[in-house]
Amino acid sequence: MTKDLKGFRDTVPVEDILEDGLHLIFEGMPGLLSEMEECRIQGTAKGEVFLHRVDGDVHLNGKVAALIVIKCDRCLEEYNQEINTSFFYILVPGQSIEGKKEIALGKEDMEVSLYDGAEIQIGEIFREQILLQIPLRHVCREDCKGICPTCGADLNKEECRCRAETLNNPFSVLKKL
Ligand SMILES: [Zn+2]
Ligand SMILES: [Zn+2]
Repeated sequence: MTKDLKGFRDTVPVEDILEDGLHLIFEGMPGLLSEMEECRIQGTAKGEVFLHRVDGDVHLNGKVAALIVIKCDRCLEEYNQEINTSFFYILVPGQSIEGKKEIALGKEDMEVSLYDGAEIQIGEIFREQILLQIPLRHVCREDCKGICPTCGADLNKEECRCRAETLNNPFSVLKKL
């Protein structure tokens, strides 16, 4: 069993997985989410994986904890979401995945994925697991009022100016006549 407390590794060669498995702990995973992502990691993400080989497949138990910064779809302010999740993968080399998928059927927390037979893309797995925890709809809170499309006021913090402007407009009086 090997522990790696220093550098984050994006990939692990299968040959590094010894008879009794390989245990890796990461105290930080820089570059896990790219600039392209709709969210980013605040501070350091922590990850842990245990890999072991079973008849050519690789079984992966892992967990990841991170604080994610997301932009609210409604008010466009950033808010935080805490992520703390664990996962289990069966990584199958080459094309023999169909039969293995049957095994995973009915077990929600189990994923069956392909790998190239040489390297395990653990960075990609951590990334996938973080993104899975983020809802499609990004709202800072359920009752976020968002931004008025007309005057641009942040309705969580201030009154919409549209009505006030109509009231102050002398022509609005004329309309009533
Ligand atoms: Zn919001
Ligand atoms: Zn308005």
